[in-house]
Order: sequence, then C-alpha cells, then structure tokens
Amino acid sequence: MVRYVYDFAEGGRGMAGLLGGKGANLAEMTRMGLPVPPGFIVSTEACRAFLATGAEPEGMSREISAHLSAVEAAAGRRLGHPDDPLLVSVRSGARPSMPGMMETVLDIGLDDASVLGLAEASGNERFAWDSYRRLVQMFGSTVMGVEASLFEEAMAVLKEARDAPDDMHLDARDLAELVEMFKKLIYDATGHDFPQSPAEQLRRAVLAVFRSWNGERARLYRRREHIPDDLGTAVTVQRMVFGNLGPDSGSGVAFTRDPVTGRPGLYGDYLPDAQGEDVVAGVRNTVALTELRRLDPHSYDQLRQYAQALESHYRDLCDIEFTVERGRLWMLQTRVGKRTAEASFTIAAELADEGVLTPDEALTRVSGDELARLMFPRFDTSATGPVLARGVPASPGAAVGAVVFDSATAVRRAATGEKVVLVRHETTPDDLPGMVAAQAVLTSHGGRTSHAAVVARGMGKVCVCGAGELRVHAGTRSFTTLDGIVVEEGTVISVDGTAGAVYPGAAPLVDSAVTRYLETGERSGDLTEAVAGALQQADAVRRLEVRANADTPEDAARARRFGAQGIGLCRTEHMFLGERRKLVEEMILARTDHQRRRALAALLPLQRRDFIGILAAMDGLPVTIRLLDPPLHEFLPDRTGLAVRIATAEARGGLPDPHDVELLEAVSRMHEENPMLGLRGVRLGLVVPGLVAMQVRAVAEAVVERTRAGGTPLAEIMVPLIGCVEELRLERDEVERVLAEVSAETGVPVRCPVGTMIELPRAALTAGRIAEQADFFSFGTNDLTQTTWGFSRDDVEAEFFSAYLDKGIFPASPFERLDREGVGRLVELATAEGRAAHPGLKTGVCGEHGGDPDSLHFFHATGLDYVSCSPFRVPVARLEAGRAALRPPADRVTGAERP
Ligand code: ADP
Ligand code: MG
Ligand code: MG
Repeated sequence: MVRYVYDFAEGGRGMAGLLGGKGANLAEMTRMGLPVPPGFIVSTEACRAFLATGAEPEGMSREISAHLSAVEAAAGRRLGHPDDPLLVSVRSGARPSMPGMMETVLDIGLDDASVLGLAEASGNERFAWDSYRRLVQMFGSTVMGVEASLFEEAMAVLKEARDAPDDMHLDARDLAELVEMFKKLIYDATGHDFPQSPAEQLRRAVLAVFRSWNGERARLYRRREHIPDDLGTAVTVQRMVFGNLGPDSGSGVAFTRDPVTGRPGLYGDYLPDAQGEDVVAGVRNTVALTELRRLDPHSYDQLRQYAQALESHYRDLCDIEFTVERGRLWMLQTRVGKRTAEASFTIAAELADEGVLTPDEALTRVSGDELARLMFPRFDTSATGPVLARGVPASPGAAVGAVVFDSATAVRRAATGEKVVLVRHETTPDDLPGMVAAQAVLTSHGGRTSHAAVVARGMGKVCVCGAGELRVHAGTRSFTTLDGIVVEEGTVISVDGTAGAVYPGAAPLVDSAVTRYLETGERSGDLTEAVAGALQQADAVRRLEVRANADTPEDAARARRFGAQGIGLCRTEHMFLGERRKLVEEMILARTDHQRRRALAALLPLQRRDFIGILAAMDGLPVTIRLLDPPLHEFLPDRTGLAVRIATAEARGGLPDPHDVELLEAVSRMHEENPMLGLRGVRLGLVVPGLVAMQVRAVAEAVVERTRAGGTPLAEIMVPLIGCVEELRLERDEVERVLAEVSAETGVPVRCPVGTMIELPRAALTAGRIAEQADFFSFGTNDLTQTTWGFSRDDVEAEFFSAYLDKGIFPASPFERLDREGVGRLVELATAEGRAAHPGLKTGVCGEHGGDPDSLHFFHATGLDYVSCSPFRVPVARLEAGRAALRPPADRVTGAERP
C-alpha cells in the first residue's frame, strides 16, 4: 500500500526527494535532539498524485488524521478546540529549496470560538486576535485566492485611522475588527465564507500548498534555476510556536557563518514579538542577533550551540529559522545555506583546514560558475548612479569606456590608449576588430547567444546585449535611452555584464584579486588561498586535459598562465582580417593562376609569423590549427553597400569604380542562401586551389623556424566540416604532400598529426570510417548543435528561442549547455566507433560547450581526452574537470540543495 505521510521521527536529511528539503531537515533536527515543534510531512508523492489526477490521493486524509492525533496527544491539545486550541502551520517544501516561491499558512485551527479560547489560555488577548488576523489573511489569499493587496490595503487604512506606525500599535480590538473586515473581504471576493471548521482549514491548506507548486512564481523560478517541473512539493504540518506572544518572544533567521564573506561566527536578524514571516516580509525593522544576546542571553547561547551542532553535523554553512516563545527557543528550519561565490570558496577551504572536509570534499563544495564570478572586476554598486539602460547580462564583468558606434572608430580610439565601449544595434563578424579593441560591447538587439554575446564571452569581454529600450543611431553617432537621454559618441558609460546594467559616467571598479592571482600567482588573502587550493586539488584529480581556444600569441600566453595544456582550436580566419583583407580579396578575385599564387604568396609570410608567435607561446604543448573554415564572401565587402556605391556613382552621371564593379560581381557570384551550409570548411580547401597548401606551408615553415630556434613546436592540423572520409583523405594527402615538401626543402622533418572536426551528423555517424584517416577528432559542438537541430544559431536566438525556453521545450539553450540526448549521443557514438577503428585516436571538444560545467561533466563521462575553451574559462574548466572526476555523472538538477 502506498504511504503518503511521515512523522518527523521517521524522516531524515537523506529523504529530501520524498519529504522535501524542509521536511527532511526538520526530521533530521528532530533526530539530533534539537527542540523542533512536533509534526509530520505529506510526501511529494502525494503532491504528484494530486496534481496528476486533480483529486486527493486515496487514503491521504485518513493518514493525516492519524498523524494529527499523535501530535494532539503529545501536545495534550486538540486542533481548534474552543477552550485551548492546538494550532498548526502548513508549510510547502520541495527537494530543491525554492525560497518564498510557494505557500505557507500559519495558525491553522483558529475560528470564531477558538480565538477566544486561545486568548483565555494564553492570557493574551491581543496575541490571539493577531494570530487569527494572520490566519484569515493568509488563508484568504493562499487558499481562497483573494488578492493579497486587498488585505494589506485594509490594514493600512486601519493603521492610518489609528495613527499606528506599524502593526505593533494595533490593539486586540483593532485586530478583531480587522478579522471581521478580512472575512467580509473574502466573502465579497469569493462568495464563500472563511471556513470555521479547523479540519476543513487543514485539508484545504494542504491542497493549496500542492497547487502552489504550479503557481506562476514557482514555475518561473524553476525555469530559471533549471529545476524539473515534475518533482512536486511536500507539505509539512507542524505545531505552531508563537513569537508574537510579547516582548519575551520573537522570531529570527541565522547563519552559522557570514554567507557573504564566509567568516565564522553566528550571523543573522531578529524581530521581537513577531511571527516568522514578519522577519523576511519587512513589516518592521529587524535587529542584529547581538540584540537577542542582550534581550535573552539564555536563548542566544542555546542558538549558538545549536548552530555549531548543525554546522558540524552538516559539515557546511547552515541557515536557520527560529522562534523564541516566552523565553524558550524553537528551531523551525535549517538547510545548507546559500552563499556568495567568495564565501563558497573560503568556507570550503576553512572546513578543509579544520579537517572537517577532505580536500576532495572541499572541491565538491565549490563550482566553476562561482569561480567565473570571482574572476571579473566588479562595480562598487554603492557608488553607481541610476541605470541608463538594462539588457541581457551576456558576458559578465564590469567595464568603463567612451561610447563609439563602429568598429573602425573603436580600433582607432583604442589605439591611442582610450578605453571605449562599442555600441551597435547588433554585431556581425565585421565588428570583430572593434570588439577586440573595446572594453565592452553593448547592443540593443539579440539575446544571450547572439553574435555579440558569444564572441564577447569567448574573449572574456564584458557584454550587455538586447538592451531593447535603447535606440542606436549609428548615423548620428548617438543613442537614446528610454528616458529620452541622448548619449553622444565619446561619452563615458559603465557596462555591468554581470547584472546587465548600463550606468552613466565612470562607476568605480573593484579589481578581481582572483584574476590577479591566476595571472601572476600572487596570493593576497583568504580568498586567493582558497581558490589556489581548490584548483590544485582539481588538477591533482582530473582526467580531462584542458586546452584553450586561442588565435593570437597574447591569448595563447594568457591561456597558458591560466593553466591551459595546449590550444585545442586556433582559428585562422581572424588572421585574414584587417589589412590582410586586401590580399584575401585579391586571392578571391584572381582570374589567373598567376594572380592567385601571387596573392597567396603574399599571405604566406603573414600566416607564418602568426603561427611562429603562437607556437612560441605554447612551446612544448600541442597547438591545433584549423584550416580556413568560413565562407570566403565573409572576407568581401557587403553586397548592398557595394550596389549602393555603384548606383550612386551612376546616378551622379559618372562611371562607378571598376574595382567596385568587379567586387560586386564576385560577391553576387558567391552569394549563398545558406552560407552556413555552403562553400566552407573542407569544401573550400578542396575547391580553392592553393589555399590549403599555403596554410599548411605556413604551419610547416613555422615549425621549422621554431625547431631551429631550439623550441619544441607541436602543431596539429585540423580539417573543418568533414562529412565523409573521402573528403578527409583528399585533404590529408595534400597536407602530407606539403609537409613532406617543406621537410625536404629545409632538412627539418616536420610531422604534424592531422585530424578533423566532427561537426556534422554524417561525420559522427561514419566516425569509424573517418577515424581511419584521422589522428584526432575534435567535436565542434557549436556547428554540431546547429546541424543536428537544424538551427541557425544567429537566427533562432532572436526569433523563437525565448518562446522555446518559456514553453520548457529545453531547459537551457542547447548552444549554451550541450543537448546530451541528441548532440551528446552523436558525440558518444563517434567517440566509441572512432576509437574502435583507430585505437589511440585522440578526442576533444572545441565548441563553446567545452567551458560549460554541465557539458564538461558529460564530456568527462564520455571519456574524451580534453576540452578546449576560451582562455578565461580555462580555470573554470580545470576546476570542473576535477569535480567531474570525483562525482558520479553530474546531477541535472542544478537548483537542488547540496546533499
Ligand atoms: P518559506 O519556505 O517561505 O520560508 P516557511 O514554511 O518556512 O516558508 O514559513 C514561513 C514562516 O513561518 C517562517 O519564518 C517560519 O519559520 C514560520 N513558521 C512556519 N511554521 C511555523 C510554526 N509551526 N511555528 C512558528 N512559526 C512557523
Ligand atoms: Mg522558511
Ligand atoms: Mg564549425
């Protein structure tokens, strides 16, 4: 027979799935012998059954009655008895903590008769009517669905009439009057009376808590925290204890350590003569816990002892809800407490130092996301002015600079040492130089995976995107805010990519000590010590190697300082931009072999120089160089721009620039409806004569030069967008031919592993064949996600992704977090079949997912050799790779409380 109700004494902290976090921890405290008002828990299973069928699960109410009788017997009082009533609270609580997202009803069991009994028994008439007032209010809004503000307004009107600054100044008569007003409010709004039967109150409250699982607030919260919708909430029914019995009573919250800094010592707030919900609701100002020590030293001492007991029992920072009833302390809730990223690291380190945690356990207590948060400089928010605009916090950090509206201006002004913020409607690959030069990027259009967002995150650059309230006028070089403020080019603004906010002027910055430590090794206090310890432990236990995606010697050097073990993706397309674009243009426009060869020959030494720099920065570590990938027309000017230029010239009666005409012809010829699926990747290499040979020669000659200089260059050549083995075989022949040529010419043997990206489903499905020709696989999970889902990343973001997220079709964008079921399955399959065909095949990931903790845990479980991510994510990936090695495959419920 299914069982739905459990007594506190039967539960424990391991049962949070069934009893909810709150119920399980109340049970745990009961077992520890702490003073917890007795009660019982209706399980999440009952909730799921109720939500599925809409009917009370069979037998549940019988079980509730039986458990209630036990609580009544222990208390020597009966629920709602007219003389001396027992009151209970009905509390929500799911497995993951969802603070304030669901409902709780206090003081169940009061009615028109028992309120008099309670007044009599407690000898405190005001208290009895205060409790009844609270019940009618909470029951009315939570259970009967009356607009909560109606009660608040009625109370405000009465306070006004009584000249009462807060609820403390209302007396028993006032409160009794309020109860009548509230009851009338309920009747007017619903056509029903507030129920006078305590049993009915209890039953309806339980069902209302079940329903609150699907309330709007709770659902939004779950979506944001990636909590599954099907867990359900448990309901805790518990004897009331009263903090509103006068000055020797009160309620409070406490942390066993400071949750902001992690410093040891009890920390919290207290509110005399109040019930628990008043503390957080802000109805009156709370006082510090030190005040409780003055008011009631005995209760304070007990609280401190219990806090210590909880911290050593849970071996972590705990938060606590408590109530003092006439000098007697009661514990009402505890859980492992939420904390800042800083506190997370320092507490884990401290507990490890105290020997409470092993170094491995300490590592499981911190996360890559927390580390990432600690790496960005921050604004001192106490000193910023009002916001200028808000947008999507796309790439965290804080940056200050003068507003510029195009890439060229950004580059020009930055070259003089000025700090600039690039503001665009949205960015395109053309804006790349400007993005590199800018401190931050601000766009009025596009979401978290828009071009601006993705590229900025890759570069570790601050970005706020989709600030829809901004009107960006690139023409007049200004933008307008919602309030009509016009910001001209050159005006200084501050961009907070962590909060998604933009401020006028230069907001003061606080530097990240953690980044300084990672860059220089300088330890400057508890926090950097803690981060160092966690990374050291992660490096000791992880199996996954961590490489970086880097295209310049500077990025390579930084990645190395951050602990990268090589470069997993060196894109060569960025090397074709800027001034070199002219040469690329010549190559594309060449009419004869001779012209093409001349253009390629001019590019060769430039490419070689790039590779020499990168191989030097990564000396002794592998550098995976990807052959040119994007469609060539990305290197040509914009088609419309050219057409307009030609038309204008003709309209003026003159002749258009013949170069423009030639370019337009080429651009039109090369125009593709779906460039993402067009002439790019290996296809380019196979049809554009001389391109691969030039790139491979540049690599090989760089290797020779570095070898001659006494270095250990470990270049690897990677072929993009392979769909079948034949493509790779042909391309590989060409690569080997050039390597042999350079070896023969120079007398220095150049051997580079040749591998391929796996970024098309067909490549994954035929990985066994492809592996015959590949020394390594690198999963390009960005393109693999695009091609598996049939999503064009740049298009879906703006159009329908937010609707998909709202509808819960996926919990997070598959471009941010690897879709394990689909894309992940291809990765698993290709890895297994590739290795079966080619033992020793090296496998890695170079998509953005390489730096995403959840995805990284999957890659670890799949047995890949390495992940590669942007330099700034390298420490994050190191940490998460360590955590992945310690844990069974990551729990997908990220919002869950820690065990
Ligand atoms: P939330 O999950 O929103 O914190 P709770 O179920 O913890 O909701 O309850 C809200 C407030 O009521 C808390 O401050 C809690 O301590 C208090 N409370 C809950 N049950 C009781 C009880 N039996 N006696 C006294 N106070 C209670
Ligand atoms: Mg609570
Ligand atoms: Mg790709």
